[in-house]
Amino acid sequence: MASGGRTDLDGGAVAPLTICVIGAGGFIGSHLCEKLMAETPHTVLAVDVYCDKIRHLVDPPPPHLAGRIAFHRLNIKNDSRLEGLIKMADLTINLAAICTPADYNTRPLDTIYSNFIDALPVVKYCSENSKRLIHFSTCEVYGKTIGSFLPKDHPLRKEAEFYVLTEDESPCIFGPIVKQRWSYACAKQLIERLVFAEGAENGLEFTIVRPFNWIGPRMDFIPGVDGPSEGVPRVLACFSNNLLRREPLKLVDGGESQRTFVYIKDAIEAVLLMIENPARANGHIFNVGNPDNEVTVRELAEMMTEVYAKVSGEPPLEEPVIDVSAKEFYGEGYDDSDKRIPDMTLINKQLGWNPKTPLKDLLETTLTYQHKTYKEAVKTQMCLATAT
Ligand code: NAD
Ligand code: UDP
Repeated sequence: MASGGRTDLDGGAVAPLTICVIGAGGFIGSHLCEKLMAETPHTVLAVDVYCDKIRHLVDPPPPHLAGRIAFHRLNIKNDSRLEGLIKMADLTINLAAICTPADYNTRPLDTIYSNFIDALPVVKYCSENSKRLIHFSTCEVYGKTIGSFLPKDHPLRKEAEFYVLTEDESPCIFGPIVKQRWSYACAKQLIERLVFAEGAENGLEFTIVRPFNWIGPRMDFIPGVDGPSEGVPRVLACFSNNLLRREPLKLVDGGESQRTFVYIKDAIEAVLLMIENPARANGHIFNVGNPDNEVTVRELAEMMTEVYAKVSGEPPLEEPVIDVSAKEFYGEGYDDSDKRIPDMTLINKQLGWNPKTPLKDLLETTLTYQHKTYKEAVKTQMCLATAT
């Protein structure tokens, strides 16, 4: 079959694939589908319970994509069509999950079911039908760093081995069961172990992805506009919402936790390399992040405030941030990862991938999108809320 002119990293032709993307309607799924449609000859079976973020691709597909992408509205919890779709595909990519921290301690059962139980049939059907699987896990499986247990000013905290997170070496360190924050990490860890064991015992061809805070347009929702008013999305959308409403950004427990943020479009390049280079990607767990984009949450808030002022033309508030306790913001049972620096050695060696976009640039693109997409809707929603 024609390769559409695409070659793998070893110079071989890449045959057009049929890919079953589960969770295709989410943040990462929407960017992945766009990339596959724009740059490859691959065909996508897009599975999700909703398709708002890929409506432009599937409802209906534009003429040039006819036959290349089809949306299948189904809940993988309980739909007998799932196995048929996996059988039709050469490769399945499972993105479906509850993955917003506000849910981990308040809806721990849904979180565990979604990230472990609901993923089981996907792994089973791939294994039984000898189909390749790319499973999305999370950097959160590392939990806390070893260094976080040392006193604050201990010199060992500065040693890489006390904080750099390495796929096949670092331990997974979670808090106690009463800290239900870790329900997500624990469920993801167990599904990773299951996928790995299917590989070892039954020959499943798999790749596991551990995203480190991928961010960009279409991430999550703006509460009261395209999501519930009381909903708490991930930090990018929380801070965007605050900026759009001209209210202070809330720093949980002082905003001291550190994160590395990677631009979604850089990260999707890594996923495409995994898709098209099975011989290099199979059997591996890959960190996908940008170690050069590390900030504390407080620094992120300051940067977003500055960038938003630039792209919106609105001056920042006099008091741009306020402190809030984790209990107030997330409720009982919240806990946090202190620091997340991905070791990039493996993905660099296997796939030659490196992230490109500095944090400032990716925030500028993303906040320009947020402002254009949401500013008027937020204004309308705020007027309606004060009128009632
Ligand atoms: P997202 O919430 O935007 O996307 C998940 C999608 O899965 C949603 O569209 C949802 O409707 C769908 N889904 C959930 N349960 C389903 C079910 N039972 N049946 C059918 N569809 C279902 O999240 P995302 O940011 O795109 O994340 C995708 C994956 O990557 C998740 O597994 C997540 O744990 C992992 N991840 C993402 C990040 C990140 O930085 N964005 C970080 C760590 C891990
Ligand atoms: N956070 C915050 N204010 C908010 C939302 C999140 O201070 O309005 C913090 C949160 O406590 C965590 C970090 O930002 O330390 C990143 O949170 P996110 O929800 O993006 O997910 P995580 O990286 O923890 O998986």
